[in-house]
Amino acid sequence: MKGATLRKVVFLLVFLVLAGFAAREFLELRHFKETVIVSEAFTERRMLSDWLPNLKNTWGDTPVYFFDSGVPGATTLIIGGDHPYEPAGTIAAYVLMENLQITSGRVIVVPRSDMSASTQGIVGNGYPQFLHIPTSWGQQVYRIGDRETAPLDQWPDPFTYVHYPSGQNLAYQDIRNLNRAYPGRPNGTLTERMGYAIMELIRNEKVDLTIDFHEASLMYPVVDTYVAHQRAEELSFLAAMFSQAEMPMKTEVSPKNLHGLAHRELGDFSDTLAVLVETAEPFIDRVVGRVTEQLMIDGKDEFLQRAADKGLLYTSYDINNAQTIDNRVGRLLTSAYQLINVYNMMHPETPCGAMFPLYTDVMTNGTGYYLQNPAEVDPSRVFEN
Ligand SMILES: [Zn+2]
Repeated sequence: MKGATLRKVVFLLVFLVLAGFAAREFLELRHFKETVIVSEAFTERRMLSDWLPNLKNTWGDTPVYFFDSGVPGATTLIIGGDHPYEPAGTIAAYVLMENLQITSGRVIVVPRSDMSASTQGIVGNGYPQFLHIPTSWGQQVYRIGDRETAPLDQWPDPFTYVHYPSGQNLAYQDIRNLNRAYPGRPNGTLTERMGYAIMELIRNEKVDLTIDFHEASLMYPVVDTYVAHQRAEELSFLAAMFSQAEMPMKTEVSPKNLHGLAHRELGDFSDTLAVLVETAEPFIDRVVGRVTEQLMIDGKDEFLQRAADKGLLYTSYDINNAQTIDNRVGRLLTSAYQLINVYNMMHPETPCGAMFPLYTDVMTNGTGYYLQNPAEVDPSRVFEN
């Protein structure tokens, strides 16, 4: 074998060894199951494919948890994990599920609305696969996924994504973005089918209030904000006012001509009051330094601080008092609570009597305090998600 050929064979072998290590990590994330321990208020677990059977046995199917008080009242739907690389959304949904008490009406939770997107990272980006939340009994582990449905499950992307039914042209990769796929259609792409199934869940279960949990970069104007469908405008402005007691929130009204988003289509294609909530996530801004699990937990980044000093951010940022995971999980929880609270003031005859930990609780005790030990509870309340 000549020197040049030998060198090529050696490079090939080195490449295969490295690819083998990477493949093992990709498979680990793809098949990792999160643990959630539902509170005593839990009544039933269904699958999203109950509302659209062709989702069965696809990565678009996902668990739907019901907490029914048995007392007449309003139904609230909490959606987490629409964009899994905004993990506070799913973790807030889990904290709510593990601690929920309910005296009237129902709460339905879909903690991983785009299951597929949670099973791989963004192609070409380097960041951790998992987030470990410390608790008194050990660590609870969650996936950090992609923003969009995995290309493994929906591929290839077109040159332009034409949104159905508006016909609006959107960025090509948004064809895999659940928050651009509403209201969806029953025989569309996998992501459109997920969107349609969530719409069908809302329509069939007569969901009164839908709250979609998100996080945004600090250089994006819509941060620490409610984005409300027109019919939920007054509700959101009042909820933002009540939230001030714990933390500042802004309200924006959904643009009528921007299609596919939850705060637009959920309200237009069903009777629900649709509100999306954004926290500030110091992890997904392009200017940050090393994107590590530590950054996801403590939010400390010197480059974001420089951006803040130059007035480039849309929310306050202080590296010594940054947006920690506790801060963001708590913000989503209080945001949801105040929407339900104001809804109940406006509809005193049909309240949704839901109680769960709020911003001040999570900031005082930490997120892990509200995650139960699976070894110490009745196994019928422990689920893999
Ligand atoms: Zn998002």
